[in-house]
Amino acid sequence: MASKLRFKVVDDAFKKRPVRVKVPDERPSEYFGKYVFDKKKMYKYLPARVYEKMCDVIDNGAPFDLTIADAVAEGMKKWAMELGVTHYTHWFQPLTEGTAEKHDGFVEHDGKGGMVEEFEGKLLVQQEPDASSFPNGGIRSTFEARGYSAWDPTSPVFVIGDTLMIPTVFIAFTGEALDYKVPLKKSLYAVDKAATAVCQYFYPEVKKVTCNLGWEQEYFLVDESLFSARPDLVMTGRTLMGHDSAKNQQMDDHYFGSIPERVENFMRDIEIQALELGIPCKTRHNEVAPNQFELAPIYEETNLAIDHNMLMMSIMKRVAIKHGFRCLLHEKPFKGVNGSGKHNNWSLSTDTGVLLHAPGKTPLDNIRFVTFIVETLKAVYDHNGLLKAAISSATNAHRLGANEAPPAIISSFLGRTVSELLEHVEKADEGDELTIAGKTELKLDIPSIPQLLIDNTDRNRTSPFAFTGNRFEFRAVGSLANCASAMLALNAAVAESLMNFKERVDGMISKGVGKEVAILRVLKEDIKYIKPIHFEGNGYSDEWKAEAARRGLDCETSCPLIYDAYLKDSTVKMFEKTNVMTRPELEARNEIKWETYTKKIQIEARVFGDLCMNHIIPVVTKYQSMLIDNVHKLKEIFPAEKAMKISANNLTIIEKISEHESFIVENVAKLISTRREVNKIESEREKAIAYHDQVAPFLESIRYHVDKLEQIVDDEVWPLPKYRELLFII
Ligand code: ADP
Ligand code: MG
Repeated sequence: MASKLRFKVVDDAFKKRPVRVKVPDERPSEYFGKYVFDKKKMYKYLPARVYEKMCDVIDNGAPFDLTIADAVAEGMKKWAMELGVTHYTHWFQPLTEGTAEKHDGFVEHDGKGGMVEEFEGKLLVQQEPDASSFPNGGIRSTFEARGYSAWDPTSPVFVIGDTLMIPTVFIAFTGEALDYKVPLKKSLYAVDKAATAVCQYFYPEVKKVTCNLGWEQEYFLVDESLFSARPDLVMTGRTLMGHDSAKNQQMDDHYFGSIPERVENFMRDIEIQALELGIPCKTRHNEVAPNQFELAPIYEETNLAIDHNMLMMSIMKRVAIKHGFRCLLHEKPFKGVNGSGKHNNWSLSTDTGVLLHAPGKTPLDNIRFVTFIVETLKAVYDHNGLLKAAISSATNAHRLGANEAPPAIISSFLGRTVSELLEHVEKADEGDELTIAGKTELKLDIPSIPQLLIDNTDRNRTSPFAFTGNRFEFRAVGSLANCASAMLALNAAVAESLMNFKERVDGMISKGVGKEVAILRVLKEDIKYIKPIHFEGNGYSDEWKAEAARRGLDCETSCPLIYDAYLKDSTVKMFEKTNVMTRPELEARNEIKWETYTKKIQIEARVFGDLCMNHIIPVVTKYQSMLIDNVHKLKEIFPAEKAMKISANNLTIIEKISEHESFIVENVAKLISTRREVNKIESEREKAIAYHDQVAPFLESIRYHVDKLEQIVDDEVWPLPKYRELLFII
């Protein structure tokens, strides 16, 4: 009987003891980057001339000189072999959720009947993985082209186990990107160019602007035995049924609570491995929901930070198993408790400091600060629908709009100090122009911004895009997502906004307006313009939904329709102007997004139907028969009237079970026939819409009845681990 399995796994889970972690003898600062071919190792393993060229590539974005490829590969091989490495792989980020790799050995025939370890430059630089099974949205079939992966020398190679991992981009032979990294890198280039140009109004010496990303990864841990007894968790990453536990997060006793020992050991283990791989892990704590946790490294350059996040997610999943857990990265594994996000802390900086940092030193510094705040907000406003599309997925949809997370509307919170500053600039009088030594300047009475701002920014936890002192925190990103999707859209949009800003300022300057005055005029215009995206109130309230609609913000909640934002004229124009993506690439990507959406719901629907019919209904029917049996037997031993009286309770349950059962059976049949019907739709977009509108609602309506049954059926026979077990045993 199924319940036996449940009790066994619960028992197993209870008995688990913390797994000891071997802690290195060295300090974290000493073993940091041990398995990374970083500059220190390059210096040691590469000829001086080659080392210098590599530094130029990494630090200054110089193109990689192919003539040094062999020397670089040789140095890498030597370093890797000293660590016992025998294989290498190109490691890339196809348009799925994870990363892809195919390992090849260093060994080659030596021509004398033996073998030799070899690793040539051309193998480092480019490969042709069999790309046919990666999503491409029709790009390759249309163009009859194969895909290839090419080394990204700005993200260092690293070693995992016996394999040398080489971060690469993944492109079709016709040039279209088939991954996240290519458009991401293009967006970083675009924002660098546009921000540097604007920066030079203030600091002419600035040569480069870097985009920083500090991600905060939320996740759940579930005991592995319990996990394995939940086919829905195994197959879809979330529980498709399950009644609320009597206690969940209402006591607020988990957030920042002491970390259970089993979990602490897991955290220690992943941190050591991450630090060895050069991921600067810093923060760990319990999150709001039971068995929910967070990990955050120190921010890094965005491309590297994203590689590190992808790597971290795979380390977490792998190491969790060693500790008898499963790591759930799904945005909403459990109904009724908080979901998981991945806050993306975003900022731009020059080699002298962060551009969103309020220094309050000189008026010009303050105008620079206002410029970057306002133009960022303008980008978010102009492309709020796109930014939502960039974080939308079938899984994140469960989290957005629910009560604890950013709603399905993008707005931005600035806090009181910055809001007042913008008001002040908006009202600043142009009559305040001053002529000093023949030069027209502004008497900029911009109030200085207190340093305290950085730590004391009022925290509005309900804003999906909040200014937090020296950065914006894009909170709507899903825990499972590749941050690149959000980051490339944001950076491209900010690049466009800054390009546009510069065009307008230069236009005025060419007509004889002084630089500061021109900047101020454009800013005043933009401060008025961005008002609809600026929202300081409670983003979770119903009033905000109505207000946002009045302000003309994108309020669409259906994921397949949200994706339409990628193909809006303003989006295509923006991506083309910034040279990040072309229309065919955007179209291909949307095909993949719709297809992925459909597949996710399709799998959920299948697993759900199976759970209902093969796990729940049989057990419930058996239980009901037992009750019926009992009613009959009571009739045998008591007079009819008394028997009926005694059986009243059981009769009610018998009836309720029948009601729930018939709803479930009928609707699972309908779910299946609806699925069959909509599967015939050819257009990926229409099919995804049908899955959203017609298939997904069944999961919710049927679940209601399953969860009711869970409450009335004998605990002993319930076949699936319950929420109270999944969420509280560790
Ligand atoms: P929170 O209080 O928001 O939970 P955390 O300490 O968990 O903060 O994470 C904050 C993240 O923001 C870290 O990754 C941190 O390095 C990063 N961060 C701090 N300053 C910046 C900045 N200027 N730009 C980008 N990220 C930053
Ligand atoms: Mg945090």
